[in-house]
Amino acid sequence: DDLGAFSALQGAFVEHQVMLQKLSLKRKIVVVLVRTLEDLNLCDALIIPGGESTTMAVLARVSGLLEPLREFVKTKPVWGTCAGAILLSQTIEGSKKGGQELLGGISITTARNGWGSQVESFEVDLSVEGLQNPEEFFTGIFIRAPVVLKLSPSPDDPPIQVIARLPTDFLPPSLASLDENDPKTVVALRQGLHFLTTFHPELTQDNRFHDYFVRECVLPRTA
Ligand code: GLN
Repeated sequence: DDLGAFSALQGAFVEHQVMLQKLSLKRKIVVVLVRTLEDLNLCDALIIPGGESTTMAVLARVSGLLEPLREFVKTKPVWGTCAGAILLSQTIEGSKKGGQELLGGISITTARNGWGSQVESFEVDLSVEGLQNPEEFFTGIFIRAPVVLKLSPSPDDPPIQVIARLPTDFLPPSLASLDENDPKTVVALRQGLHFLTTFHPELTQDNRFHDYFVRECVLPRTA
């Protein structure tokens, strides 16, 4: 049996659990809610859900999971959605030293709540490379989402593969002049074993992102 797993310290983890359980795969995956080091040690891969990244980091620290999670990220597949995407960032802009703690893993800089208070939440149809039925749009649900500011892989890092961008004709007014290749339009990306969406696929009825993560990032490593 393969183990799929994700962090249940805080945030939208039940929705991820439901999505994973609905996947039709030839091999069975077992979903573990991670609250302790013992739980984490059972896992071959991790999903870090949406929620509040600061709270999640504090809870990880007090439950003794912060360093083990950092080690986990170094060698195993991890997908971060929204707050989880913030935690997987190498750097976040505007955070004071000693403020938000991160896990790192993806060589990008992000800004928390980067769309501004005028555009707290929005939905937009995304075309996404590599999903099943790629001609079907995926509904991106953004809730106080982070914005990717910079992609900065060093020569030794795996390359960053952009999986989805916000269509420029949709961009919020504050960003309307963005070039379509601007990193701020990036809403899903992959770097090596790591995968990031600034929106919430688990809040839709569409499990194609879960399918992608399990098939592309997790199963090939646990064969
Ligand atoms: N704004 C939250 C944060 O900074 C993320 C919101 C979310 O996960 N929906 O952590």
